[in-house]
Amino acid sequence: MKKEISRRNFVNATIGAGAGAMILPVTGGFGLQSLSPVNRPLIITSHANETGQKAMAAGWEILKNGGNAVDAVEKAANIIEVDPEDTSVGYGGLPNEDGVVQLDASFMDGKTYSAGAVACLENIKTPASVAKLVMQRTDHVLLVGKGALDFAKAWGFPEENLLTEKARKIWLRWKEEMSPTDDWGAPEHLQNLVKKESYWRDFPGIEHHYGTTNVLAIDSNGDIAGCTTTSGLSFKLNGRVGDSPIIGAGLYVDNEVGAAGATGRGEDVIKSCASYYMIMRMKEGRTPQQACEDALKMIIDRYKKVNPDFYPSEKFVAINKNGELGCATMTGNRNPQMSVMASKGYSRFEGTVVFPGR
Ligand code: ASP
Repeated sequence: MKKEISRRNFVNATIGAGAGAMILPVTGGFGLQSLSPVNRPLIITSHANETGQKAMAAGWEILKNGGNAVDAVEKAANIIEVDPEDTSVGYGGLPNEDGVVQLDASFMDGKTYSAGAVACLENIKTPASVAKLVMQRTDHVLLVGKGALDFAKAWGFPEENLLTEKARKIWLRWKEEMSPTDDWGAPEHLQNLVKKESYWRDFPGIEHHYGTTNVLAIDSNGDIAGCTTTSGLSFKLNGRVGDSPIIGAGLYVDNEVGAAGATGRGEDVIKSCASYYMIMRMKEGRTPQQACEDALKMIIDRYKKVNPDFYPSEKFVAINKNGELGCATMTGNRNPQMSVMASKGYSRFEGTVVFPGR
């Protein structure tokens, strides 16, 4: 109990987030951070791994030299998109049920109140950059499928095969184990030598079907931008569009308030307009941490009425115009983290689990 109180005090003293959220020390990094009331420039990503750290360093290069939030967000998102080891975003992302990688991305610029997005984009490694061009160089917000590809090609993006060997093997294993009644099957299953088990056993690094990245930034002028980019729900139906390219669902930015992004089961996020909801909560005075938690609770409140046992898997991140931070997940045993880069260096921000133990 004592421990909890001191942890909460620490949090309030440092960032004014909701209960439980904190800045973590990073090995080899800059240690615990205490953020000043107006903390900018600033860039964050929901990716808390090494690639996320590299992405933050790249975005920071732009911000620290007085560059704008849009450019910093694009640069950071591209680093994560082209990482072949990352099976949730861009090149190397897990494919749809037909083995085809279809990418979704959105971009929003708070300064100009403009937005752009692409959905079901194939063969282009950096959908965030295509979404940025939709935002800056067309009068539209969302391009899909072949139209999005044609647009990207017109801008000179090269067409490339996005299905890495790693992703192809994971997809094949999924296909083999998906059904006991079709004609696909691993040899041991066909011969009934071993009990059928989840294909995840052979790919322990791949924990679930979800994965996306949100990148949000404020530049030194106080302008805010954000991007959400993903390969979407793995093994989804051909043509399925998630929340990531839907403005208001997977991403929303308001220069007067802040920015918010979502990852997880996109169907829930679309139906709840979760990112817009977080912005509205912050506009009403909630901290980014509280806004993330409020949005997750709102989703569960709705599910409770129709399916009380269903707890979807979502992670939300948010920043406000003062550079305060928020991050929360719906369920799980580990607190969610996100990467943060500000004038004091790189750190990981640890958020909260809203419904622990579910
Ligand atoms: N939100 C993404 C989608 O539904 C997936 C994810 O974040 O894992 O496409």
